[in-house]
Amino acid sequence: MTTQNQTTSLLEAAHRASVAYTRDIKARSVAPSPEALSALQDIHSELPEGSCDPLEVFDRIDRLGSPATVATTGGRFFGYVVGGALPVTIAAAQLAAAWDQNAGTWNLSPPAAEMETVVSRWLLELLDLPRTSVVGFVTGSTMGTFSAIAAARSAVLKRLGWNMKRQGLAGSPPLRIVTSTECHPTNFRALGYAGIGLDQVEYVPTDHEGRLDPNQMPELDDHTIVLLQAGNINSGSMDPFSEVCDLAKCAGAWVHIDGAFGLWARGSRQTKAMTNGVELADSWCVDGHKWLNLPQDNAIYACRDAEAVHDVYGVNATYLIRDGGVREPQWFTPELSRRSRGVEWYAALATLGREGVEDLINRSCRHAERFAQGLSRAGYEILNDVTLNQVVFALPSDAETKLALESIQKSGVTWLGPTTWKGRYAMRISVSSAATTECDVEQSLQAMVSAVPACRSAGADL
Ligand SMILES: *Cc1c(COP(=O)(O)O)cnc(C)c1O
Repeated sequence: MTTQNQTTSLLEAAHRASVAYTRDIKARSVAPSPEALSALQDIHSELPEGSCDPLEVFDRIDRLGSPATVATTGGRFFGYVVGGALPVTIAAAQLAAAWDQNAGTWNLSPPAAEMETVVSRWLLELLDLPRTSVVGFVTGSTMGTFSAIAAARSAVLKRLGWNMKRQGLAGSPPLRIVTSTECHPTNFRALGYAGIGLDQVEYVPTDHEGRLDPNQMPELDDHTIVLLQAGNINSGSMDPFSEVCDLAKCAGAWVHIDGAFGLWARGSRQTKAMTNGVELADSWCVDGHKWLNLPQDNAIYACRDAEAVHDVYGVNATYLIRDGGVREPQWFTPELSRRSRGVEWYAALATLGREGVEDLINRSCRHAERFAQGLSRAGYEILNDVTLNQVVFALPSDAETKLALESIQKSGVTWLGPTTWKGRYAMRISVSSAATTECDVEQSLQAMVSAVPACRSAGADL
């Protein structure tokens, strides 16, 4: 058993280690060093027979784990679309870990449930989505899309006279999915979880920025779920929401928006117009752990049709039912027991406010613009319209781009990853961390610019 003294020592050790980690993060290599990765191998021991001092275990986790992390929170990580963690959200997460509340039901955690209630309202206002929509707190956009598609499936089938909950999927009227060829691959996973196969998907071609071309839409009908995206994973572009939502509405089709990072464009007056019409959709998902800078494992989905959500997630185990109009968090999500995600959302939004969110979005977009300008001057080709936080760029040949990327990653100054854009091997920057300063941008740009001459001559030899 752990004594109170040990508990105190452990939490103090965790506090010290967390402070040291966040304090030193900017000074270290963004990618973990080969030495740190090799030391990490020490964790592969046999399962211990007996117990061990928890402080010793904690120290080992810190000693071997911390240096082997990828420094995604340091401000110079631009790979994938990841974001960082606002300090107040780390603090809130630490406290919530100590609470260890089961946020599935109000009875087990009034603060978790109440914070979800207030955050739901704030998010619908901030993202300017229909205020009567319901919001579920999930792990990521993959699960957000799954959760929404499950509701969509139930609602669409219900209109066709099929009760999904009672009759299941076998023998049900077939559903159609219409999406663009640029649809994020995780959406196909979400569809699969919902029992919808790849053969049911119809693809619409896209324009040069990866936007679905509304003139090439197939005829929609009341068996159709349309999947659009707010924020192309490469270019950051937005699908033509108004046009497609109008077509869908006439046909009785459902529209879901994958807004994993791009839906945050609605948080700034400078970028909101890009997303006009997105509010006409039926459901949306957006990550907290990407651009809003919440710790990992945080996304929401919102759905206009509360009844569809309750048809799927409402349970009627009498011991779980509450009345009096309070939120039962589990009525909106696939799982029952889970951690208090609403606390981290509350911490971020209460701290930032509307202005803080707007500033985060604007700063990221400004940094992206600066990257594009500096890279272009150094001889890189910018392959997208830089209108949001994403920059796709390359050298003239794939071989040169590959060399440059390796050199940038090895520099330790910054980290970004490869992508394929219009059949070309390219590099992608996503500016999505609140920790990124102008100085981080200049330092990172320097590493990217220095990679050019060596790669151009070496690439020419290939
Ligand atoms: C990241 C991302 C996803 C998947 O989100 P997770 O939170 O990783 O599950 C889906 N779509 C887009 C556009 C994304 O950027």
